[in-house]
Amino acid sequence: MRYRINKKTGDRISEIGLGSAYIPETPLNTAIPALRRAYEGGINYYDLAAGSAKAFPMYGEALADVRKHILYQIHFGADYSNGTYGWSLDLDTIRRSVDKQLKELHTDYIDYGFIHCQDEITDWETYLKNGVYDCILKLKEQGVVRHIGLSSHTPAVIHRIMDDVGIDMLMFSINPAYDYGQGEFANGTADERSEVYRRCETEGVGITVMKPFSGGQLLSDHQSPFGRALTQYQCIRYALDRPGVLTVLPGAQSIQEVEELLRYEDQPEETLDYSVVASFAPPQAAGKCVYCNHCKPCPAGIDIGLVNKYYDLAKAGDKLAAEHYRTLEKNASDCIRCGHCDCRCPFSVRQSERMQEIRAFME
Ligand code: SF4
Ligand code: SF4
Repeated sequence: MRYRINKKTGDRISEIGLGSAYIPETPLNTAIPALRRAYEGGINYYDLAAGSAKAFPMYGEALADVRKHILYQIHFGADYSNGTYGWSLDLDTIRRSVDKQLKELHTDYIDYGFIHCQDEITDWETYLKNGVYDCILKLKEQGVVRHIGLSSHTPAVIHRIMDDVGIDMLMFSINPAYDYGQGEFANGTADERSEVYRRCETEGVGITVMKPFSGGQLLSDHQSPFGRALTQYQCIRYALDRPGVLTVLPGAQSIQEVEELLRYEDQPEETLDYSVVASFAPPQAAGKCVYCNHCKPCPAGIDIGLVNKYYDLAKAGDKLAAEHYRTLEKNASDCIRCGHCDCRCPFSVRQSERMQEIRAFME
């Protein structure tokens, strides 16, 4: 398992995490070995916005003895009082729900306490007015909540909340369908969504990815909004390539499904290549580098995707990205303008020209 560091908190987080939307539907004697296998396979990050209340005792039984080695993100606003997932802005309901979750998880602390599912500015105003955010802050002072997160599907709301309060982690819905305006949570334009990724990377806020397969739709020829399926490995790689992303949180309901996710770590580059999404992308996406590296190999040895990522971040004011760029063994100054990347890029990026632009900016 590869790990990424949350720059704000220093936490070392597995690039494959686990979501909990579907595991409560699984019998205990299947769910518990699956959760245990995830842990043994190196997964140390678990989202607990579960599909039903059954998830919490499952996690408690499977992972209580290794609690100090794993990280939970728990949502202030997810309510399970009737057994299944519900959404609430009411402080007492939220407190009761979180207390019960902690008890059933056999833990007394929360690694990431999340401001849960904010997709309207009015929801955020109500959240503040009802004292839910103050409650999270108080629990942080008491050491019950270690870090604060936010989950949202909506770029404008994310910016507003990041302007209003500090967060240490963002949970955002990322997949090629949403980024190109297709699907239920395709909120914001491609540029607005990229702006969220860049802001998080620049400010050191890690991103955990929900809905990496668009609820499974992207994995099916019939349901994919593009009329063509991607593999789960292509979707995971796509999400992990976005700036700021630390971990992707797909669901799994059995040891076999966990094993399938873990095999991501051993996939060859050609299996992970998601450049086929260029054929789905709307015309306005043409000419924008998505860091897929499909244009490799570069005869000058440049990591073209990485150079472009650092450039976009540096342009957005990320000084650290500019520093990282300068430590690269090969960068835009090494481009010999052979044009190989121009021919290979499925997104019609005129990369040889862009390398000159990058060189001028960075120097
Ligand atoms: S230039 Fe094209 S192929 Fe190369 S990394 Fe960017 S988007 Fe991918
Ligand atoms: S044009 Fe430059 S960046 Fe592109 S493949 Fe040739 S040397 Fe590499």
